[in-house]
Amino acid sequence: MPSLSIHSKLPLVGTTIFTRMSVLAAEHNAINLGQGFPDFMMNAGLIGLVNDAMKKGNNQYVHMNGLALLRERLAEKIENLYAATVHPDTEITITPGGTYAIYTALTTILQPGDEVIVFEPAYDSYIPNILINGGVPVLIPLSYPSYSINWQLVKKSITPKTKMIMLNSPHNPTGMVLSSDDIEQLRSIVRDTGIFILSDEVYEHLIFDDLPHESMLRYPDLRERSFVCFSFGKTYHCTGWKLGYCVAPDALMKEFRKVHQFNCFSCNSPVQFALANFIQQKEQYLHLGAAVQQKRDFFQLLMQQTKFKALPSHGSYFQLYSYAGISEETEMELAIRLTKEYKVATIPVSVFYSKEKDDKVLRFCFVKKEATLEEAVNRLIKFS
Ligand code: PMP
Ligand code: GLN
Repeated sequence: MPSLSIHSKLPLVGTTIFTRMSVLAAEHNAINLGQGFPDFMMNAGLIGLVNDAMKKGNNQYVHMNGLALLRERLAEKIENLYAATVHPDTEITITPGGTYAIYTALTTILQPGDEVIVFEPAYDSYIPNILINGGVPVLIPLSYPSYSINWQLVKKSITPKTKMIMLNSPHNPTGMVLSSDDIEQLRSIVRDTGIFILSDEVYEHLIFDDLPHESMLRYPDLRERSFVCFSFGKTYHCTGWKLGYCVAPDALMKEFRKVHQFNCFSCNSPVQFALANFIQQKEQYLHLGAAVQQKRDFFQLLMQQTKFKALPSHGSYFQLYSYAGISEETEMELAIRLTKEYKVATIPVSVFYSKEKDDKVLRFCFVKKEATLEEAVNRLIKFS
C-alpha cells in the first residue's frame, strides 16, 4: 500500500494560541483572561427566544443566504446606524461566525500570487487564510505603542498585484480604532484602483470613549469594494453560538455565495429566528459600548496596583499591558509563567506577528465578572 502522506497546505502553522492558552489555563486552574469570551451569563431573553424557536419547530434548514427576516432586520439596522441602504436579498449572507465570513471573502477574491495588505499585530486567522488561498500577505506593522496605521508605508506597499487591504476596527488585539483621518487616507489610496477591502468589524458595538465606529458601510466609495464581516457572538456575549454575517455589494456577494453554498450552505436556524426578533431591542447593542467601557475602566483601576503599564484601548474585549522594565522574559515565556505560577492566563502579543517581535506586551480580556477581574488582579499584584 502506498504511504499516506499529506503535503501540508500550512506547513508553518501550529495550533492557535487561543486554544493553547485556554488548555494551559484549565490545566493549571488559572483565571482565563486569554481567549476572548465573557464569563458571565448572556441575556436570558435571547436564550428563551432560541428555546421558543426550537419548540415551535423551527429546526430545519433555512435559506442558504440566511433567514430572510433576520437579513431584513439587519438591513434596517445598517440603514439606521450607518445610513447605508443594503439589499437584504442580495447583499447580506448569514455565516457560521465572523471567522468563516473572513475566510469565505478571501477565498472568493484571491487568485494565486495576489497580494493582501495586512496590518500587524493581526488576528491570527488572517495570514493562514490568505496563504491557503495562494495569496501573498504583505505585512505592515502598526506603529507601537499607539498601533496607528502608517499610511505612507501603505502607499509604498501598493503594487500592481495588490488585491486587497484587510482592516479590523475596533482592533484585536490592541483596541485601536480607525479615525476619520484613517478613512480619508484609505479613500485616497484605493480611489481609481481595483483593490478590494476586507473589513473585520466584529467589535462594531464594543467601542469606548464616545468614539464613532468608522464602518466601511458609511462610505459609498469604500462600501462598493468591501466585504464587511460581523459576529453576533461578540455583540450578544454568546461566542460559542458561532453566528455572524457578511455584507458586500451584489456582484461581490454573488461570488461569495458560490463559495458559501458548498461549504456551509445554511446556518443554525433556531438562533436565526431568535435573533431576528431580539435584534429589534436596540438598547441591547446601543448601550453595549458604555457597559463594556465600565469593565475596561474597572480593570484599569485595579491594575494600577500592579507593575504593568496600560496601553490605550478604545474598543474590543481587550486591553494591552506592557511589562517592559519589569522582566526580560519574552512575551510567550511570561504568559506561560503567569499562567503556571500566578494562575492568570493572558495572550502574548508576539503571536500576532509573523516575524519575531517582542515589545513586552500582553493582552488581557477584561469582559469578565468584576469578581473574576478582582481575583486576577490580586494574583498579579504579587508579580514584580
Ligand atoms: N475577528 C476578530 C478580530 C475576532 O476577535 C474574532 C473572534 N471573535 C473573530 C473575527 C471571529 O468571530 P467568530 O467567533 O464569530 O468567528
Ligand atoms: N476572538 C477571540 C480572541 O481573540 C477568540 C476566538 C478564537 O478562539 N478563535 O480571543
